[in-house]
Amino acid sequence: MSAPDPSKNPILTFDRVERRYGDDDEIIAVGGVDCSIEARSFVALVGASGSGKSTLLKMVNTLVTPTAGRVLFAGEDVTTQGQSQLRRRVGYVFQGIGLFPHFSVGENIAIGPRLAGETLSSERIGELLSLVELEPDMASRVPDELSGGQRQRVGVARALAGDPELLLMDEPFGALDPITRDALGEKVRELHEKLGLTTVMVTHDMAEALLLADRVLVMDAGQLVADATPRELLMGDGGDIAQGLVSVPRQQAEKLAAMEGRLA
Ligand code: ADP
Ligand code: MG
Repeated sequence: MSAPDPSKNPILTFDRVERRYGDDDEIIAVGGVDCSIEARSFVALVGASGSGKSTLLKMVNTLVTPTAGRVLFAGEDVTTQGQSQLRRRVGYVFQGIGLFPHFSVGENIAIGPRLAGETLSSERIGELLSLVELEPDMASRVPDELSGGQRQRVGVARALAGDPELLLMDEPFGALDPITRDALGEKVRELHEKLGLTTVMVTHDMAEALLLADRVLVMDAGQLVADATPRELLMGDGGDIAQGLVSVPRQQAEKLAAMEGRLA
């Protein structure tokens, strides 16, 4: 099996996208990424800290603007699309959750539509909470009264509030314990199917990427260095950097299997 052919139906295209920082543009956060993402695919964006993952994601919803190149969403340059329209069609789960502590859960979920001048009904808020398997009456609580996993579910509900086509998640499960993380990963994959979403999830955890995604993009120093399916990566494709990342969960699995063998 090869990677899905995104030219068939791309919803998102990075066209030689570049983002530099510094007085002399000496810091290259993203250095010319060229890639298309097929509608309804689940893509993991993996790479070491500082490799440019968040910057690339932020250029999709215009939190960051490219210094060169373009990002096309549904065939149109994101910088020329109306911002409220764009942020409605593109849901974003922030790195480190980013709920407003003094707002209730319900107010946090409704913030996107509110900024666009719309009010979300309490029925709709309850519906969004149910989608992420939280009780509708949780809407009146404040984030401090929630566990980390519950807060992250609220972050996902908030990202889904505008009924988006594209869901972007920046290390959504980073701070969670492994069991909660696993459950939430499965939940997001299920919602992805159920709502017909296109999902791009940033993670530094290759095991999570292999288990959840249809396609894995690997970044290193601002460049895309691999673009492969989980199966291709497990068969040894994708190059040295990708294989270095794959070797971590593989070695853990091998060690566990060896321990089980000794115990048997
Ligand atoms: P990742 O999400 O993969 O950890 P980032 O996209 O956050 O990486 O950052 C990529 C690189 O760009 C890093 O070297 C980071 O320090 C730099 N960078 C990101 N944002 C800024 C900024 N606002 N100003 C200066 N440098 C930045
Ligand atoms: Mg980041």
